[in-house]
Amino acid sequence: MSSAELIRLFVVCLLPPATVRAAETSPAGLPPPPEFAASKRLFDSWKAPVPPRRLVGNIHYVGAIGISSFLITTPAGHILLDTGFDETVPLIQRGVEQLGFKVGDIKFILGSHAHADHTGGHAAMQRLTGAQIVSSAADAQLLARGGADDYSPYPKELMSYPPAKADRIVREGEAISLGGVTLTAHLTPGHTRGATTWTMDVSDAATTRRVVFFSSISIVPSTSLVLRPAYPGIVDDYRATLAKLKALPCDIWFSPLGGQFAMMEKLARLERGEQPSPFVDPAGWQKLLAAAEQDFLRQLELEARR
Ligand SMILES: [Zn+2]
Repeated sequence: MSSAELIRLFVVCLLPPATVRAAETSPAGLPPPPEFAASKRLFDSWKAPVPPRRLVGNIHYVGAIGISSFLITTPAGHILLDTGFDETVPLIQRGVEQLGFKVGDIKFILGSHAHADHTGGHAAMQRLTGAQIVSSAADAQLLARGGADDYSPYPKELMSYPPAKADRIVREGEAISLGGVTLTAHLTPGHTRGATTWTMDVSDAATTRRVVFFSSISIVPSTSLVLRPAYPGIVDDYRATLAKLKALPCDIWFSPLGGQFAMMEKLARLERGEQPSPFVDPAGWQKLLAAAEQDFLRQLELEARR
């Protein structure tokens, strides 16, 4: 793929809606629906390996280059947050082993949201580990159907993945505890109906840091919020999610896409000995939320004018 094509893919699929609109808009004013071949190339570009790394405390990155998977280790076994695509499960397995841990010690598999690039590997990972799959009720439904009937306008062939059954459903504020680590679920619907943000405390250089594993609040290109939305109630859900995220205590934040939290750049700074850890970034978190809110409000305005 040419670099110009690669840039266009990122413009259409990754950048905030306002940027997409500036670059390419449909006559109705919303970006065009993502097209299969372009979306597939984008997804494929995220599947390359990257060395597994410890990020902070007992939190490790074991994902592919573009799609996060976090391993949270404890003396009583481990928790895996996001399994990437079905095809990237062997890569995650290798990453866990390279760090000196055993995949068989993974006790819980959690998800940020039930799209093919984050929970597509749940079924294979469960076969490998025997771990319990933990999910919100709404994402458990999507997971059970293998993502096939998601409201997203992305091509269905691309959004479907091997179905998996949740063993445990979490509601707002419920927690998963293992070996002295507690991860709390915050339901943050919008990007999917069951998108879930997880929080925990981590010890970093003798300081307790509040960690947020952000789900996603981007509006998938071409999604209508107001005019005949495929997801009725989506506007209220986005508003409530934004308010909830703004109120979360946060020192360190991670996201389902490594690029979104500038992982490589922050790791390079960490290696140079920067203190406190460059992952301590509450200002970056607030900036991300402010940009997301702006995009949301801009799209509402745009749809109101149609
Ligand atoms: Zn998604």
